Amino acid sequence: MLRNVFFPKGFVTLVGAGPGDVDHMTLGALKALQTAQALLYDALVSEDILALAPARCVKICVGKRGDRLSISQSNTNALMVKLVERGLHVVRLKGGDPSVFGRVEEERQYLEAHGIRHKTLPGVTAASAAAAQFQFPLTHRGEARALTFLTGRTKDGDIDLRAEGVSDPMTSLVFYMSSHNVAHIAETLTNAGRTADTPVAIVENAGRPQAQLRTGRLAELALLVKAAAFAGPVLLGVGAAFAYARDIDLTVSTVRYA
Ligand code: SAH
Repeated sequence: MLRNVFFPKGFVTLVGAGPGDVDHMTLGALKALQTAQALLYDALVSEDILALAPARCVKICVGKRGDRLSISQSNTNALMVKLVERGLHVVRLKGGDPSVFGRVEEERQYLEAHGIRHKTLPGVTAASAAAAQFQFPLTHRGEARALTFLTGRTKDGDIDLRAEGVSDPMTSLVFYMSSHNVAHIAETLTNAGRTADTPVAIVENAGRPQAQLRTGRLAELALLVKAAAFAGPVLLGVGAAFAYARDIDLTVSTVRYA
């Protein structure tokens, strides 16, 4: 039970679900989900995770994912408020970590503008899951001293990579939402001074049993992505650390501890 005596107006928990595998959820996320009375979830959240919510919980997919049906951010916000004003514990379940390209701040501000109490629980971001699954570090002593998460897509569809933010060869770059802009990204990185032989790793469906890894060099990044014709969510990693990615046996990474 959510001890919500102090929250007669309901409560919202903004929860990071991780990138797909239930094993990536935190215990806090699990408890929040198990006490949810209404669940608003992103399209990237897996069926296994949704099954953890109580059967009586209202479950609504509000997620954006390519061409799948989705509702606008303002409708999601309004729906969240409508549900919570009934005194419910609303769980807003997001893929990965809510603080990484998760629009969580927009939702928090909206809730606050409506006087609604809320709490945020972190999740495993896709980059961390990819790094664990394919056994590469995101930072590595002497080779990768910094890590930058970037998006290749902005609100209005543009990309705006500032050279000073991407040129340092000691910085690992992880691009989210970027596979459609890969040619442009590769060109921008090259113009910013990243060498053609900079290691790259491309991971589709990180953290899931059907995950796929492609590795190569910056010069071939666009071709690799194009040739793979990915259908699932994709991350692009650029920098020395990605050279360590191992083409592992997926039956190992999906071993269960129970
Ligand atoms: N909050 C999420 C990111 C949301 S933005 C997180 O922390 O992971 C959505 C983008 O995340 C996708 O376009 C893709 O680039 C990346 N992504 C999400 N899940 C992924 C997965 N399982 N494998 C690879 N990339 C993923």
